[in-house]
Amino acid sequence: EPPKTTYRRVMLKISGEALMGETSYGLHPPTVEHIAREVAAVHEMGVEICMVIGGGNVFRGLQGAAQGMERTTADYMGMLATVMNALAMQSALESLGVFTRVISAIPMDQICEPYIRRRAVRHLEKKRVCIFAAGTGNPYFTTDTAATLRANEMACEAIFKGTQVDGVYDSDPKTNPQAVRYDRITYDQVLADHLKVMDASAIALARDNALPIIVFSLDEPGGFRGILAGEGAYTMVH
Ligand code: UDP
Repeated sequence: EPPKTTYRRVMLKISGEALMGETSYGLHPPTVEHIAREVAAVHEMGVEICMVIGGGNVFRGLQGAAQGMERTTADYMGMLATVMNALAMQSALESLGVFTRVISAIPMDQICEPYIRRRAVRHLEKKRVCIFAAGTGNPYFTTDTAATLRANEMACEAIFKGTQVDGVYDSDPKTNPQAVRYDRITYDQVLADHLKVMDASAIALARDNALPIIVFSLDEPGGFRGILAGEGAYTMVH
């Protein structure tokens, strides 16, 4: 019997780097499988799940632009990277018996579905995990913004930002043992203090729509499910 949760529909945002494990590039299959298990455990609770996965493990627009590539071209490459990550997650989830749809902001019909809002909502109602790929479909944005945009469009109750630390700290807990974790923090404080939660446009979009952001660690097995059941450490940005 899975634990009870008050959440009906959520967005899980992870960076592309979350799929890298200890490696320095691309996909680390055991890590992808670990995250898929985390998602499957929440799916089992009956929660409707949206996902956005970044592309930073493969390509970042800014990195391409720094190497002399046109920024918009580099950003499209970054968006394509997110499609590969989404397909890897789809494959891992489906091998656990969780039905999924990859839904791309840029149509590529042979590979995945195009984004049609009402169709995506229908998938969620049928308990299919919707993995939103290709970001917002626009250069100069990030997948944090895409996650916030889709979370709003899908009427998610919160964005769960899965990271390697169990919340937002006043300084880096990896280098400062005195670092203090916030239980709750406002959007405005995150913006004013330049805390690394999500980029500023994503934070502003969440704030303007009163969409809470819950920062938690994806490292512990069962951690995501625990957070949804109200256990464990996290920071809520509200
Ligand atoms: N990107 C974009 N528009 C979007 C989302 C992403 O242009 O709406 C590009 C951008 O170049 C970005 C790359 O895709 O650097 C990968 O996404 P992101 O950096 O957000 O990935 P993460 O840091 O979460 O792994």
